[in-house]
Amino acid sequence: MITRSRMWTTLATLATATTLPLTACSAPQTPTLHPPAAPATPPKKHTPPTLAPGPQGQTPVFKSAPRTRGTAKAPRTVALTFDADMTADQGPRAAAGEHFDNPALVNTLRRLKVPSTFFMTGRWAEEYPAQARAIGADPLFEVANHSYSHYAFTRDCYGLPTVPAHAMRTDVDRAFAAFRKAGVKRPLPYFRFPGGCYDQRALRALAPAGVTAVQWDVVGGDAFATDPGAVARQVLDGVRPGSVVVLHCTRSAAPATERAVRTIVPKLRERGFRFVRVSEQIAAARTPQSTRPAGATQN
Ligand SMILES: [Zn+2]
Repeated sequence: MITRSRMWTTLATLATATTLPLTACSAPQTPTLHPPAAPATPPKKHTPPTLAPGPQGQTPVFKSAPRTRGTAKAPRTVALTFDADMTADQGPRAAAGEHFDNPALVNTLRRLKVPSTFFMTGRWAEEYPAQARAIGADPLFEVANHSYSHYAFTRDCYGLPTVPAHAMRTDVDRAFAAFRKAGVKRPLPYFRFPGGCYDQRALRALAPAGVTAVQWDVVGGDAFATDPGAVARQVLDGVRPGSVVVLHCTRSAAPATERAVRTIVPKLRERGFRFVRVSEQIAAARTPQSTRPAGATQN
């Protein structure tokens, strides 16, 4: 397993691009012969579920959903999340040809019909506005905030540069502004701290932003992994009902992810898991015990 320390250190230093084979992901989509009829009434405005603020209004932190084993009617759930990392100072590397995006991964998730959540940096949306917009427009996916700069929100976070406390809220708002500029409609009010690093000071600083911080309970270990089988095994060993898995959507820093996903998805479905977006996990975390499906148990 690649340690997070190595992952972030290497994230900051890697300068070479890796290109994934596209053969498995280039199958044409089946055309829609009969477009769905327009709804008779306009859809209701959807308010995404969030967690209640913590003490003194602090930003709440979500890590995983209830460990409900699930039933035939209400299968156990797992959320795959993909961090679309690009750091504020990586523009010259992108200009030199390094790929921080991963269109093959996005296509595979579509082909396999896997609801997923993308935590995108504002800088990534600036670099890849068409992809950001397409991901945001796809009902299969949701886009959430991974900061503008991908700088750390604590003083010591795997060697990442640090955002001062007074600039934290601005950095998050700047990412939302970049999403709007790229044409991403309705990004979710969820925030993933770069490196997963946060403390009480950061939670207080982000309170006015009204976001729910989203961590994870399963590290995919895909950063700089070259063996998709090892990534798949690590995910499959770690997933429990309600898990949130962190993976990456960037070819240069996570070149094996797309191939790993091709293994992970059918295996978890065989085990009875249903893939959901983080918003559904958060909604489930807010659901009182009494409203869970009959026969559901905890582990
Ligand atoms: Zn990240």
